[in-house]
Amino acid sequence: MKEIYFKMKKITIAIDGYSSTGKSTIAKQLAKSLEYIHIDTGAMYRAVTLFAIRNGFFGGTKDNPQALVKLLPTINLKFEYNDALGFSEMYLNGENVEDEIRSLLVSRNVSEVAAIEQVRYKLVEIQKEMGKEKGVVMDGRDIGTVVLPDAELKLFMTASAEKRATRRYKELLDKGEVVTFAEVLKNVQHRDYLDSNREFSPLKKAKDAIEFDNSDMGLNEQFERIQNFAKRVIERP
Ligand code: C5P
Repeated sequence: MKEIYFKMKKITIAIDGYSSTGKSTIAKQLAKSLEYIHIDTGAMYRAVTLFAIRNGFFGGTKDNPQALVKLLPTINLKFEYNDALGFSEMYLNGENVEDEIRSLLVSRNVSEVAAIEQVRYKLVEIQKEMGKEKGVVMDGRDIGTVVLPDAELKLFMTASAEKRATRRYKELLDKGEVVTFAEVLKNVQHRDYLDSNREFSPLKKAKDAIEFDNSDMGLNEQFERIQNFAKRVIERP
């Protein structure tokens, strides 16, 4: 009976926090257990960054935000659920870019691209539209503060920069990227700085968000604790 109730009453869940705090992992787990839709907004900023790199506007010697802004209307972003993998993949103008957007080259440039006002405007509009229906778990940097300020459950994920860089380093090595731990740590710290200090919707904890430090926590414990937060909100009359 309780299970049916959880599936019937849908809420909106916003998950924000620093790079590599496992926001997408917990968002995917929650979405799966509650039968909600998961939207990884970082993937959208990464896809725009990949577009900018491919067109030579970023990733070279000199950035050209104006050239990117001009071509923004030609960028089409779409999530498509992959049954076999059990999560949605990012499509950029019809091409599956899920793997390519996770490369270190994209990670190195994404925070600069995400700081461009027009890029944020375009993506936030799309995200607000996607979040209109209940039954959504959205993760990013400005979800609880800007995109879905009325979300019933807001989480703000943190962990030490060293722990986050260690996780990211392992992921990149598994993918066969040639990279040192020091480079990854530098990238994590640099993105923290840019994300927290940019002019338009900087990364900050929403007043009503629950801060969750997972530096010393396993995935199972984290999932159980956060699922309980969600259940408590759903059970509220
Ligand atoms: O979450 P992920 O690390 O994949 O996000 C990549 C980058 O996209 C972040 O470092 C941040 O600069 C940007 N981002 C953002 N706002 C969001 C989601 C991501 O600025 N809502």
